[in-house]
This record gives sequence, structure tokens and C-alpha cells, in this order.
Amino acid sequence: MDNKTLRIEDLFLKMPLYDKLELNSALEYKLVDILRFSGQLDMFCVGCNKESTFTGFDNLTDYVPGVAYTSNASKLMERVFTLPKYFSHKKVFTVKLKCSRNENHLMLFNFYIKDNILIKIGQYPSLMDIAHHSLKKYKRILGTDRYAEFNRAVGLAALNVGLGSFIYLKRIFDHLLEDAHKEIFADEKWNELEYLASPLQKRIALLKNHLPPYLVEKRDMFSILNKDVHELSEEECLRYFPVLQNAIECILDEKLIEITRDLKRKELEKSFDNLTEKKKPVKKK
Ligand SMILES: [Zn+2]
Repeated sequence: MDNKTLRIEDLFLKMPLYDKLELNSALEYKLVDILRFSGQLDMFCVGCNKESTFTGFDNLTDYVPGVAYTSNASKLMERVFTLPKYFSHKKVFTVKLKCSRNENHLMLFNFYIKDNILIKIGQYPSLMDIAHHSLKKYKRILGTDRYAEFNRAVGLAALNVGLGSFIYLKRIFDHLLEDAHKEIFADEKWNELEYLASPLQKRIALLKNHLPPYLVEKRDMFSILNKDVHELSEEECLRYFPVLQNAIECILDEKLIEITRDLKRKELEKSFDNLTEKKKPVKKK
């Protein structure tokens, strides 16, 4: 994880178990806010089986007893004098959040600080459980096999398995690209030879009318997919995993929107039909 752009929700929902973050002074301050978290976060609740708002509670209550964290002077005191001392004594932390619908629906995160390095050592529910729930909506588009692969990819990434997770995602991305390719294939202006000879970034550009515009705009980010498996490193795969996952979800979300739009259109047509049916004059016998 990159500690410069670290967001609290990433630490909870994206950081895999046993992933490490080196603590520098800037991150230590941020860490206090995370460990004593009392704010709200919108996340998927496995208990409710839908999105909910979670609130931090009862977190890091023993930190600098008697010193209010609200005043600027005490904040400064904590930062300059007490923070490194505190982390050198207390090493294991649990951050607790509860669902706004049901206070028995908890999310728990455990962190361990060792030699100035923060390690995520536990989480409930697991990243896999949360991810699998949020992927369910894509099953109707991906079909059983690809959907199982998507789950496997996310599950492996949650365990910090880079190469394996990445290859599953690559297969899904290729499959979605091939769907777009099939749609355009019948177009008489289409140059199949040019497409087949092009690197992935160019293929994305050629399929631009059948892919989300944002993805086409950022197509250079996907140059990694031109590499052969033996050229990829674990670290590189883990770094690019979120990019590829988001790209896949971007394509799938567009398809979901299309399906919803079609359904609405059909409903509208049906209601028009019903209306004109009713307006028809009754035949006289
Ligand atoms: Zn809940």
C-alpha cells in the first residue's frame, strides 16, 4: 500500500492481511485518527446483505488519558512528545465499527506495530466475504464460470497472492474485450488484421465505441497486459490488480446500466400499450 495516498477505507477494505506499511511521522499522525476512529464509513454489511453506514466505537480509549484530543495544543503535544512513546509500548490495536441498522453487525480490524512497521493481522468479516457480496450483482453478466473466476481472483488478492489473482483477472478482461470485438466484427469498416496485429492499448482504442470512455482514455494503464506471464512479478501484479479490477467493474457496470435501461423501456412500452388498449372504443354489438 502507498502510504502517501492512504485513505482510511483502503486500510480497512483494500489492505490484504499481513500487508505492511512503514510508519513515517506523517503516517503516525494519520494512524492515530485511524486507530481512534469514531467517524462513519459507507460499506457493504454482510449481516444486512446490503450497503450500510458503519460508525467507529470504543476505539483507542486508553491513548493519553486525561488529554483532550480536541484542542490544537494537545494535538501538538501528542504529536511531538507522546506518539512514538505510545507506539513503543502498545503494539496491538483493534478498530471496531458497528452497522447503523443493527449494532450486532460488527466490523473488526486488527493491526500490529513492529519495528515501526504497521501490519494488518486480522479482519472480520474477511475481505473475501465483503468482496464476494459486492461482486454478486455481476453474476448475471459474467455467467457462472467467469463469475467464479472473478471471485477466485479477488479471494487470492485478499491473501496477497499476486500472480494467480492477476491471471484470473486478465482472463476476464480478455473475455470482455472479446465480447466488444464480436459486437464490432460485422462492421464493414472494421479492419480485423489491424486489430489482431495491435498491442492491447491500440485494441482498446479501436473498440472505443463499445467500451466505457474513461477506460479508453486511460488505456495506457493496461500496457502491462501485453506482458507474458513469465515477465510479471508478484509485486507488479498486486500493484496493478486494483486497476484491472476497477476496469472490469467499469465495463460490467455499463452493461448493468444497459440492462436496467432496456427493462425500463420495455415497462414503458407495456404501459403505453395498456393505455392505448383501454382507449380503444368498445365495439357495438
Ligand atoms: Zn448491518
